[in-house]
Amino acid sequence: MSVTHAPAVDVLRHQDPELAEVLLAERHRQSTTLQLVAAENFASPAVLAALGSPLANKYAEGYPGARHHGGCEIVDVAETLAVERARALFGAEHANVQSHSGSSAVLAAYAALLRPGDTVLALGLPHGGHLTHGSPANFSGRWFDFVGYGVEAESGLVDHDQVRALARAHRPKAIVCGSIAYPRHLDYAFFREVADEVGAYLIADAAHPIGLVAGKAAPSPVPYADVVCATTHKVLRGPRGGMILCGSGLAERIDRAVFPFTQGGAQMHTIAAKAVAFAEAATPAFAAYAHQVVANARALAAALAAEGFAVTTGGTDTHLLTCDPAPLGVDGRTARGRLAAAGIVLDCCVLPHGDARGLRLGTAAVTTQGMGEGEMRTIGGLLAQGVLGAGEAGATRARVRELVAGFPPYPG
Ligand SMILES: *Cc1c(COP(=O)(O)O)cnc(C)c1O
Repeated sequence: MSVTHAPAVDVLRHQDPELAEVLLAERHRQSTTLQLVAAENFASPAVLAALGSPLANKYAEGYPGARHHGGCEIVDVAETLAVERARALFGAEHANVQSHSGSSAVLAAYAALLRPGDTVLALGLPHGGHLTHGSPANFSGRWFDFVGYGVEAESGLVDHDQVRALARAHRPKAIVCGSIAYPRHLDYAFFREVADEVGAYLIADAAHPIGLVAGKAAPSPVPYADVVCATTHKVLRGPRGGMILCGSGLAERIDRAVFPFTQGGAQMHTIAAKAVAFAEAATPAFAAYAHQVVANARALAAALAAEGFAVTTGGTDTHLLTCDPAPLGVDGRTARGRLAAAGIVLDCCVLPHGDARGLRLGTAAVTTQGMGEGEMRTIGGLLAQGVLGAGEAGATRARVRELVAGFPPYPG
C-alpha cells in the first residue's frame, strides 16, 4: 500500500467511494476558492505524507526511551528528531511536541503551573483572547479565575497601563499573552517585566505568530516567557497539532502535564509530520516565505483601507488583520456570507469596544500558493466587490476562480 498522499485518494476511490468523494470535493474547494482564514495554511506534500503513514498505527505512551508500549524504538527516532529540530529552530532548552492541539498545549501549561482556582491574567475574549484564556464555555473559565485585560479603544493596541494595574491589583499566578486576532507584535519584554514585578509565571500563547518566529519575521517569546504554547498548523505550515517550549527548569513538569496528566498515547504520525515541518521551517526558503506573508498582509491591509474598510490598528505587523466593513454599509456577518457566496473564505471576529462583528483574515495560505503584493491588491478589490455586490456574487466568484487558478496549492 502506498503511503504517499495523492495515491491515498486512489486507494479510497476503490474501497470507499463515498468518502473519496468527500476528499476530492474538499481538495476542489480548497483549490477553487480563496483561503483567507487566518489560522489556515497548505501543508507540504512531505508533511501530508508523514500524516498518512503507518506511524499512525503505533501506540507510544510516554517519551522516547521511556514508553509504556513495546516496539517504540523506531518512532522514538521520529519524536527525538521533532524535539531536537524544535529546540534548534526556536532556541529553546526544552520542547514537548506531543500536544494534540494548541488548546491541549495551553491546558498542559496550566496543569503544569497552576492549581484550580488560581487567578490568571489574560487578554479578554472580546478583545481577542482565545477560548482557553478564560471562556466560561471552556475548562479555563470553569477551573481558573480569569481577569481580562484589553486593547485601547482608539489605537487598538494592548493597554499596557491596564495590564500593569490589573496585575498589581489581582496578583495573578500566571499572565497569558497571546491572541487569536491581534495584528501587531506583542511586547514580550513588557509582559516579562510585569510578571516579575508581581511574581507571576508568563505564558506566551504564540499559536498564531510562531511560524513567523520560525522564519524570523516576528520577535520570539522564547527568551521572555516561562512557557510558550503554540500550534504547528497555522503560519508554521505543519500538521494540525500543538507544541510547548520552555526552559530546562520546567521541562519535567511540562512533560508530565502533557502525558500522563492531560493526554494518553502520542500521535506518532503527527509528531513525524511536525519533525518534517520543523526542518522545512529552518530553511532560507521558509524565512523568505514568512517575510512575504507579512509583506502580503500589509499590502492587503492597505488595499482594504483604500476600499473603505476600517482596518484595526491601521494595519498589521503579522500575517493577520481584522477590519470592520461597517463604513461600506455592511455588518461583519452579512459580509462573510456574501464573500462565501463569492468564493472568498474568511472568519468573523469580535471587534473590541462595540457589539459589531468584524472580519478576520490572514495571508499564510495565499502566500504558500505563491501570491504576492500585486495579488493582495487584487484581493482587496475583490473583497470590496464581494461585500458590496450582493446581487453580483457570480461575477466576483468568476474573478476569484480565475485568480486562484493561477496559484494551485498543490501543483500537479
Ligand atoms: C489557534 C489558537 C489556539 C488553539 O489551537 P487549536 O489547535 O485550535 O486547539 C490557542 N490559542 C490561540 C491564541 C490560538 O490562536
